Amino acid sequence: MEGLSRIWQWLCAPAAGKKDQHYSTSPYVNEEKCIACGKCIEVCPVGAAFLLGDVSRIEPNICISCGQCMESCPANAIDIDWEHDIPKFLECLTEYVYGDVKGKKDRVGYINFLLRITSDCDCVPWRDAPIVPDVGILASNDPVALDQASYDLVNKQKGLVNSSLHSNHEKGADKFRVVWPMVDGTHQLRYREKIGLGSRDYKLVEI
Ligand code: SF4
Ligand code: SF4
Repeated sequence: MEGLSRIWQWLCAPAAGKKDQHYSTSPYVNEEKCIACGKCIEVCPVGAAFLLGDVSRIEPNICISCGQCMESCPANAIDIDWEHDIPKFLECLTEYVYGDVKGKKDRVGYINFLLRITSDCDCVPWRDAPIVPDVGILASNDPVALDQASYDLVNKQKGLVNSSLHSNHEKGADKFRVVWPMVDGTHQLRYREKIGLGSRDYKLVEI
């Protein structure tokens, strides 16, 4: 959810580019937590995870940072350096988009579907319970304004209980920080504006 326009970000990069975007996030195994179940080895698409003694290891030169092992580990033993890796990852996503749409402002439009909003990104193979009610469909020729408006509209909703949103249910409270406490949801918006992808200013027009 941290990048509401993730779909178009993915479409702007070839397979090698997607790997390049993820390379800043290097998962590691917390040996204290690993129960040697082998699940990470099973799901790893490139054979980067392996058991050494009674703990799992990840070979960084093989790992493509797809994150499947993190999602599958029953002991939450696999993690990344959220403080340093995630900002770099988000900036890299933004740069790929910028490279593709630069100079095409009048020829590219963007649409955000704020429907069935869940905490995880589109990479995960499951559907979770929505954290806020459906908001609607937003469109703009400025991707930064579009995502800023989307971000604000999500936070303006009353949060839904029985979802991964465990607090900040009141209208106006930051829903993003609750579901991803280690990620600054505005970092990517600020970086996009900084490199000239668009403006965080917007005016909502309801139709
Ligand atoms: S992040 Fe992906 S490639 Fe790297 S070890 Fe985990 S499953 Fe394998
Ligand atoms: S999935 Fe988690 S607990 Fe299981 S072997 Fe891998 S790191 Fe260890």
